[in-house]
Amino acid sequence: LLEFDEIDKYFGETHVLKNVSLDVPDGEVCVVIGPSGSGKSTLLRCANRLEEIQSGEIRLDGQSISAKDADINRLRQRIGMVFQSFNLFPHKTALENVALAPRKVKGMPKEKANERAADLLDRVGLSKQKGSYPNQLSGGQQQRVAIARALAMDPKVMLFDEVTSALDPELVGEVLGTMRDLADEGMTMMVVTHEMGFAREVGDRIVLMADGEIVESGEPKQFFENPETERGKRFLSRLL
Ligand code: ATP
Ligand code: MG
Repeated sequence: LLEFDEIDKYFGETHVLKNVSLDVPDGEVCVVIGPSGSGKSTLLRCANRLEEIQSGEIRLDGQSISAKDADINRLRQRIGMVFQSFNLFPHKTALENVALAPRKVKGMPKEKANERAADLLDRVGLSKQKGSYPNQLSGGQQQRVAIARALAMDPKVMLFDEVTSALDPELVGEVLGTMRDLADEGMTMMVVTHEMGFAREVGDRIVLMADGEIVESGEPKQFFENPETERGKRFLSRLL
């Protein structure tokens, strides 16, 4: 269980997350949507301790993520994150990119790390690309390597921040397919996306953010067919 408990985040004077509370139960896919600047990325970044919060608490399985003395390295192993930009190491193959962190961070022997990396690349549909370098891969393939790389640490939760936004439209589907497979396997996920088809079909819960607040949260069917709030109605009407 990933819990955000009345968190506040400021950048200087700007209050970007306002008393946000949210639970993501094990095995659920929480899709976060909302206009630009509403705080979606910041919320995910706080969960991975890329940003500090000023009040409230974030917990994973009851353990504080936000406490000053939390073990950041350990918690980043438990919470994988994938971004819009893939940031693969350009001089390493797909396999090496995936095997690197388990070797460096967990001290896994090379052979075992490579074996696991190969399994993960199979799992994201890249069996044939293990020896390819990032510049030999399409954007969609690179993003799937990035997902495999995050999975290599065996995380408890995966965070996805607009992972398909930089991709050519014809490559979006393969990455969303990989994410759907992960969800089907029971991974706990928080997904910021503009892909409303994915949100509706794969999400267990939709969270709509606006101006640093959660303005509506509900099951996809309920949210998309009959939003409860004016903000929700307005957001949906702009998508059409
Ligand atoms: P988008 O859909 O455009 O990605 P978002 O919902 O992810 O938007 P955030 O990136 O979380 O929005 O930004 C929330 C607010 O925080 C915005 O007002 C933004 O300008 C501000 N902000 C984000 N990062 C910083 C930063 N490093 N320093 C100062 N302000 C920031
Ligand atoms: Mg963002």
